[in-house]
Formats: sequence, structure tokens, C-alpha cells
Amino acid sequence: MDWEGPGSADALSGAPARVPETQWEAAVGVLLAAVETAEPVVLACHVSPDGDALGAALACGLALRAAGGQPLVSFSPPMRLPAALSFLAGQDLLMAEDALPRRPTVAAVFDTGSVDRLGALAWLAEAARDVLVVDHHATSTRFGTINLVDPAAASTTMLTAELIDRLGVPWTADIATDLYTGLVTDTGSFKYQATSPAAHVLAARLLAAGVQHAHIARRLWDTHAFGYLHLLGDALSRARLEGPDALVWTWVDRSDLDRAGLDVEEVEPIIDVVRTAEEAEVAVVCKQDADGSWRVSTRSKGRVDVGSACQRLGGGGHRLAAGFTSWTGPEETVGRLRAELAALATEAGMSEAGMSEAGMSE
Ligand code: MN
Repeated sequence: MDWEGPGSADALSGAPARVPETQWEAAVGVLLAAVETAEPVVLACHVSPDGDALGAALACGLALRAAGGQPLVSFSPPMRLPAALSFLAGQDLLMAEDALPRRPTVAAVFDTGSVDRLGALAWLAEAARDVLVVDHHATSTRFGTINLVDPAAASTTMLTAELIDRLGVPWTADIATDLYTGLVTDTGSFKYQATSPAAHVLAARLLAAGVQHAHIARRLWDTHAFGYLHLLGDALSRARLEGPDALVWTWVDRSDLDRAGLDVEEVEPIIDVVRTAEEAEVAVVCKQDADGSWRVSTRSKGRVDVGSACQRLGGGGHRLAAGFTSWTGPEETVGRLRAELAALATEAGMSEAGMSEAGMSE
């Protein structure tokens, strides 16, 4: 989903905590034990999954099946894949939430920073004996009994690729396709700050394993229903750029979606056009969901931490790409976001002043 999208600058700020060797060993241990005993392994990811979340879960599922295991991949209902992700491999592993084993021995959770982001699958975090968290969110609450969490990883599929290597499963073209999809989704085709040398090395290995990268790029970014063109035009024509925080924002409501015959998932890419406004520091797009609530996507160019602001509004994400759900209209929603951004700026100013007083500013 949108706020899980682009990678962040977190890889550059502060010392990223690499995954300790003991965690890798524990992860491989519980997964191989489950394969050995033919116990089902539930692989879950966050609500409204994006290419990274689904790519990671499905790739791991394909690897476990290749190893002789019983993987089941699931996410919160409605369990419907966005059309742009219809090419992902291993979809026959998908199982609806209500058909999952209630007390699985092992649950692996991908690209999910906190339990609540599992939506209707949140019970898994309590019900499974071993909970393996595979994630790259800097805000991860590390709710697993085993945590493969590395905020420096450009995508969760980067960590999943290493996990599959450590399981000793060779990368088929199908596994590589799912891993690559997460990598290009979260690096925005290797454009975002989080794109590391390791990301390019992984891409090279994945292409060598048979990934049809041009096909994937066309499906992910260069394919829209015709109705999208007019909807995009409408959304852009009412965009506003205002405030001392140089915030550019617009919205898509139910009537826009109905007129265009589109689902709310299909208009996620609008933020990628809105955020190109040179004058803007922050970009926001509010999209109305079928239940009337608003999915709010935010992007920052670097100075502002939209991740923290969104987290305070009940959402989450990364420093430069985050989101939350709102039950108020776009104008009021953007106002609340502005207030959080202003509060964060004040707090940052106060802590800087405190440092100066203590003579630590230099
Ligand atoms: Mn991700």
C-alpha cells in the first residue's frame, strides 16, 4: 500500500541495525523444522498489500513449498490483489483468513511494522508459537519472537532473498519475480534514496535468475485503464499548493472513482505526479475508500518527517513516504496533518535549542 512504498532516507540517518546472526539462525531453524514435520507455515503481510509485502510473502511461500513445506499466504480481507500485481507468482498459495489454521506453529509476517497493520490477521501474532517478523520499517515494533528487521534494507524482499538463500532454496524465475517486484516497488525503480549498492547487486542476481523486468515495469507503472487519465486530470486540476510548509495536496472521492470505473487501489500512483511539484516540500493525496474513510498518502522531499506525523495520526510508514486513514474530509484531514508537522517542527526546534544550551550544538 502507498505508505509502504518508496524507501526512505533512514538508511543514511543513524546507524542501521543489521540483523543479528542469532536471529537468522533462529528463523532458518523454525522454518526448516516446520518443513521437516510438515506443519503449515502461515505467511502474512500488511493490509492492502503492495508489491513488497506480497512479493516477500509469496516468494517465501514458493521457497518453502520447493523445500517440501506447507506454506499458506494470507492477508486481511478483502483478499483481492491489485490488478497491477496480477503477474505475481505463487498466488495458488493464497488462503483466506477464515480458512487458516487457528494455532499455527510458525507465522512469518512480512513488511508489517506493527501488529495492527495485519488487520484481521492480528490474532496471528498471539496464536502462533513462533512469530517471525521480516521487515525494513524503521518504526518496526519488532513484535516477533524472531525479528529479521533491518531499516537499511531497501525492501522487505531484500531480507527475504537472504532468508531464502539461507534456507538453501535456489531462486526459480517465479521466486525471483516476486523478490524483484518488492525491490522495484520500494525503490521506485531504483530512484529513491534507499537504493543501495546491495539493491543493485540483488537486482542483477534476480535478472540472471530469469526476471522479465520490462514486463514487470510496464505492469507496475505504465499501465492504466483509460478512465484513469481523466481522473488524474481532475485530481491534478484541483491540486493546491499552500502554507508555510509548502504542502501540495489534492483528493479523489467516490464520485471520481465511480465515474472512472476504478478501485481506490488503482489511483495510488497519483501521488507520484503530485509530489513532483518543485515548490512543494510535502505532497498529500486523500483517496476515499468504499466505506467512506479516506486513505491519505504523504511524501516528503527530505526536510520533513511525514512518517512520524502519520504515525501520530494512527498510520505509519517511512520518513519520506507514509500514510494514515482519516474519517474527516480532505480539507480537515490535511489540516490535522499540518498541525502534526508543525508540532514535530516545534519539538525538533526545542531539542536543538536544548542541545545549544548544553554546548553540544557543534
Ligand atoms: Mn516495504
